[in-house]
Amino acid sequence: MPLDEYRRKRDFAVTPEPEAVVPERDGSQLFFCVQKHLASHLHYDIRLELNGVLLSWAVPKGPSLDPGTKRLAMQTEDHPFAYGEFEGVIPEGYGAGIVMLWDKGTWTPEVPDIEAALRKGDLKFTLDGYKLKGSWVLVRTSGRYAGARGGSGAEQRTWLLIKHRDDWSSPELDIAEFAPYSVKSGGDFEDILADDNPAIWQTNRPAKDGSTGAMLAEVVARAAAIKAARAHASPPPTSTEPADGSDATATPKKKARTTGGARKRAVKKTPG
Ligand code: MN
Repeated sequence: MPLDEYRRKRDFAVTPEPEAVVPERDGSQLFFCVQKHLASHLHYDIRLELNGVLLSWAVPKGPSLDPGTKRLAMQTEDHPFAYGEFEGVIPEGYGAGIVMLWDKGTWTPEVPDIEAALRKGDLKFTLDGYKLKGSWVLVRTSGRYAGARGGSGAEQRTWLLIKHRDDWSSPELDIAEFAPYSVKSGGDFEDILADDNPAIWQTNRPAKDGSTGAMLAEVVARAAAIKAARAHASPPPTSTEPADGSDATATPKKKARTTGGARKRAVKKTPG
């Protein structure tokens, strides 16, 4: 059954993640997303829609626009289609941490038979997202067994994500650094935390050790400060346009196309 592994790893009584539902899709446009996931380790989950679920790979260093850079991509369990728009906090259990919708759009296979390409371990495709565009390939590093997708052996789950040389490739630009924020909310991890239900993040803050634990603790502290500032602020004034006419009221999606600096400045201006 599709999504069995997804279900097995989660307790839907405690996680805000979507339950496992396979929707009817006409297949004319295939969805993709990249979710930046601050969990035990920061990583980027790239997900490609196929047959109503999201094929998933965890990319520790995130996608690179440099065709000379191969990024490790560990295949993980298929996720429900509805997960593709998820952004928020996973308070506990598998994947506990913060999920940011870092990029989304559509993907197009560059091969006639997607299933055959997956079995072979060589899937070429085009992305049309806000941040990632053009031609890419996911190639399995060791694929002795046909149909090994989602198999238990680590050697069967190890892929590389590589950008092909085209108008969208760049050997210099670090896209993760250049465009670090959410395409859904425009925010960073602490904004996602601060927007969430306080019961989730105050009483069930993800407890981790090592450097990511320190990173999480810092993000939680910053989120608490943002939240406290909002709680003590008077209602927002009706006119917030700056005198210089700059666009302080751009939509989150528009801001997400840039580095999201407008939102950061706006947060810091909040009184309290
Ligand atoms: Mn993840």
